[in-house]
Amino acid sequence: MTRVVRTRAELREALAAAPRPIGFVPTMGWLHVGHRSLMQRARADNATSVVSIFVNPRQFGDPADLERYPRNEARDVEICGEEGVDLVFAPTVDEVYPPGFDTTVAVGAIAKPLEGAARPGHFDGVATVVAILFSLVDAERAYFGRKDYQQLLVIRQMARDLAIPTEVIGLPTVREADGLAVSSRNVHLSPAERAAAPVVHRSLMAAADAWRRGERSADALRRVTRDVLAAEPLAVPEYVSVADARTLHELETVDASALLSTAVRFGPTRLIDNEALE
Ligand code: AMP
Repeated sequence: MTRVVRTRAELREALAAAPRPIGFVPTMGWLHVGHRSLMQRARADNATSVVSIFVNPRQFGDPADLERYPRNEARDVEICGEEGVDLVFAPTVDEVYPPGFDTTVAVGAIAKPLEGAARPGHFDGVATVVAILFSLVDAERAYFGRKDYQQLLVIRQMARDLAIPTEVIGLPTVREADGLAVSSRNVHLSPAERAAAPVVHRSLMAAADAWRRGERSADALRRVTRDVLAAEPLAVPEYVSVADARTLHELETVDASALLSTAVRFGPTRLIDNEALE
């Protein structure tokens, strides 16, 4: 049976009795098959599985974006039950950030390019909430999706630097049959935008194919991605990146491993995706 707790005190009490190791999956709810894959690993690898559901206001730059973020807690708890999750932590904003809260966790260079440049303050919000959640849950392992690749690197850096012993594990992106990365934000796509959205993955695959055929110029790979995106009128690219997969510095030549990533707008909806070249 999945137990739902809402306060720090209830969480502490539930965890005191929980068998170890603990596997933790932080989410913002509107759970989907991508989240399910993280829960399944958390459950398989650990004696206790914990999911948090918290739409974190601090990681949203735009109040309208926060406002329209989809929510359905009853359905989320049902999904956690189906996946055999032991404990759901669904706190209020005040429970996570009590009155007087005044600390920000700001990760350095790895948080600066790409999503960090496009969404000022976003990773401060992410690092701050994950530091709090890691501290409250005190899990042996935590599971994140590689769909948010830079987020994964930011959280690894944060946990290492703050001496948080939770091991940060990254898992593959779960996709729809047509290649679109599953995301809570996909619900906002109009039928026409939804039909167009697989171009994001297709554009990255085209560049990955070029790389496999021997193309090593990062600019040529960016151009392949941009050309595929340009053929879809509903897709408005924000950035196309070919970067070192560890530092996220933009590359001129792809010698070793690289991360191909892009952010693309479809109307008001912003989608991100990436593909590792290795
Ligand atoms: P979110 O609820 O969007 O904050 O995501 C919570 C966690 O689920 C993050 O670690 C995401 O990277 C991960 N996630 C989101 N979408 C997917 C996906 N399609 N495949 C795998 N993991 C995902």
